[in-house]
Amino acid sequence: MHSELPTVPGTTPMPEHRAEISERGSFAFATCSCGWYSAARRSRDLARREAADHVAEYGGDAAP
Ligand SMILES: [Zn+2]
Repeated sequence: MHSELPTVPGTTPMPEHRAEISERGSFAFATCSCGWYSAARRSRDLARREAADHVAEYGGDAAP
């Protein structure tokens, strides 16, 4: 038997969570590299906080 390409079982790639703040007009919203995005906010600080909350919630290594 020939061996196939080596596969490592049990390794699931974790999506990275890198949030950024984008601005459109007078609104700011947070986007994440995982595809998540927040609602448009009039406050950049609020969008930034939502981004931080998202990363803290999904970016942690705590198992569900
Ligand atoms: Zn994310």
